[in-house]
Amino acid sequence: MDVQKIMVVGSGQMGSGIAQVCAQAGYEVILHDINQEAVDKGMAGIYGRLTKQVAKGKMTEEEKTSTINRMSSSTNLEDGSTCDVVIEAVIENMETKKSIFRQLDEITPKDTILATNTSSLPITEIASVTGRPEKVIGMHFMNPVPVMKLVEVIRGLATSDETYKTIYTIARNLNKEPVEVNDFPGFVSNRILIPMINEAIYALYEGVASKEAIDSVMKLGMNHPMGPLTLADMIGLDTCLFIMETLFEGLGDDKYRPCPLLRKYVSAGWLGRKTGRGFYVYK
Ligand code: NAD
Repeated sequence: MDVQKIMVVGSGQMGSGIAQVCAQAGYEVILHDINQEAVDKGMAGIYGRLTKQVAKGKMTEEEKTSTINRMSSSTNLEDGSTCDVVIEAVIENMETKKSIFRQLDEITPKDTILATNTSSLPITEIASVTGRPEKVIGMHFMNPVPVMKLVEVIRGLATSDETYKTIYTIARNLNKEPVEVNDFPGFVSNRILIPMINEAIYALYEGVASKEAIDSVMKLGMNHPMGPLTLADMIGLDTCLFIMETLFEGLGDDKYRPCPLLRKYVSAGWLGRKTGRGFYVYK
């Protein structure tokens, strides 16, 4: 399938990164969110990152301009009617995602591939609300998208080989390394990563050590590039909690119980970097 135009739904930290790398790779991109303020924020982030790349000599001014020119913004999902592929990157909530996939199934041409950047939710269940489950697939980018090489490509029960090949090719064109994974809660990345983060939060909750000490142990002792609590703040504590709940419900094992301290922080609106406060304070 010859893909030229991609819509990214959700212009938060992941969606804006996905839109950026798609436009940089030469695809025409529509970046969508529920309101203009959210889309403008996503677009401003892209503009800022590209400007930094030019300043560092990693990109020319002309490349920046042509990347921006390949992008447009949208607050109307109907704009997806001209796209070959839609990549959904809204909040990690099954009902929200299902509602968007139902609408996209109505709006987009029957050949359009509907991909989701979900971190943990079952692709098969998201696909079930559409009339084209063979064209629904997981395309799980890592954060920050412009930097990280991995894309987990997750096949739902009905995902066709053709859909898989198209998404694999797009990922390669974005200069990423696609890795095929089956549809189980959390896939591979978050089945392993998020319980580790949750355990670090339990260690803090139980007073095993301070947040700085927990992060230092994992950085200096395990050679992790950043500590688990710093990483949780970067991912977003709401996203971490959603994923733990998905693992807990989907795998039915107590070992995936979300830490009460994680719940408390999310209830307080301390979601990490994106709100200026999580385990650490950002200003
Ligand atoms: P975010 O909170 O930064 O952005 C979510 C965006 O979705 C917001 O801009 C919000 O306005 C928008 N949105 C909400 N409902 C919408 C709707 N109905 N229509 C259109 N837009 C809507 O979240 P994020 O960190 O970018 O995560 C997005 C997705 O990517 C989630 O599924 C998450 O699990 C996944 N993901 C996150 C990470 C990470 O590290 N944060 C990594 C990989 C995958």
